[in-house]
Amino acid sequence: MKKFDVLIIGGGVAGMTAAIYAKRRGRSVCIIEKFALGGQVLSIEKIENFPSQKLIDGISLCNMFAGQVKALGVEVVFDDILTCQLSGEEKVVVGKKEKYLSSSVIIATGLSYVGLGINENDYLGKGVSFCAVCDANFYRNKPVLVASKNGSALADAKLLSGVCSKVTVLDSGDVSVLAKVVENPKIKFVSNVQIKNIFGKDNFDGVEMVCDGEAKKIKAAALFVCLGKKPINIFDEIKTDKNGFILTDENMQTSVPGVFAVGDVRAKTLKQIVTACADGAIAGQNA
Ligand SMILES: Cc1cc2nc3c(=O)[nH]c(=O)nc-3n(C[C@H](O)[C@H](O)[C@H](O)COP(=O)(O)OP(=O)(O)OC[C@H]3O[C@@H](n4cnc5c(N)ncnc54)[C@H](O)[C@@H]3O)c2cc1C
Repeated sequence: MKKFDVLIIGGGVAGMTAAIYAKRRGRSVCIIEKFALGGQVLSIEKIENFPSQKLIDGISLCNMFAGQVKALGVEVVFDDILTCQLSGEEKVVVGKKEKYLSSSVIIATGLSYVGLGINENDYLGKGVSFCAVCDANFYRNKPVLVASKNGSALADAKLLSGVCSKVTVLDSGDVSVLAKVVENPKIKFVSNVQIKNIFGKDNFDGVEMVCDGEAKKIKAAALFVCLGKKPINIFDEIKTDKNGFILTDENMQTSVPGVFAVGDVRAKTLKQIVTACADGAIAGQNA
């Protein structure tokens, strides 16, 4: 059994920033991470919206975060948290390897993106993206495709239309009504599409799909997969929004005293590295 002043579940950029702030206040701090410090950022090839870095790859950025965390003396443990009892004064966090105790817990478990279930992961960073806000600018003035389910990609399609030359939304449902309502000459909606395969030698070239029973191929500069996001939330005692994202106040405090939530697992509109860090700083200062 290990005991700390502050336990942080998840070692992405939100968790690491929370650790830096809590540790600098003289608290004993432990980050519990199931894979590797860095989380989603480790998979990003090019980041051009992290202030102070014009262009950086995700691994280099994570190495700088992790270096700072370790230099401060934050304990980092690799364990997969399975259950927690968070309601009492003493919080109990149970991993596959160990049990942890603390009076403050910061949840920083992030999210996962809903995928197509085909070969999209082979082309991540090579023309396939899950994040329009992050990657639209890499396809400036170029035509792009958007994978959508029952209009799930509408906001992203609008955002992309401000940057890309043409946005073709491939929706698995019927979006004919949406197509009439959205008056944007750059956005084209196609209904009843099943994307079957992504092709391209080294980089993304296009998709093979079936549309109204007919097999087709369509080429573009990129494919944005905008089918939705799922929070990694294993904490049933805590209030969430209808999609399972954790609700907090402005101090990152959840509905359970002594429990904070930061980064992409939290209910908020802009899920980015800087906003994850901002959440982490606030929680680390309050936990
Ligand atoms: C392809 C892609 C490109 C992106 N590009 C950009 C960009 O250019 N600019 C930008 O600002 N943002 C970008 N983002 C968004 C950005 O990466 C996220 O907003 C940010 O990383 C969120 O950080 P986080 O710490 O909240 O969560 P995460 O990075 O998801 O970290 C959560 C961590 O918690 C760990 N964890 C989860 N469950 C458990 C458990 N039960 N036990 C222990 N550990 C657990 C996970 O392993 C993970 O390491 C991009 C995202 C993706 C996917």
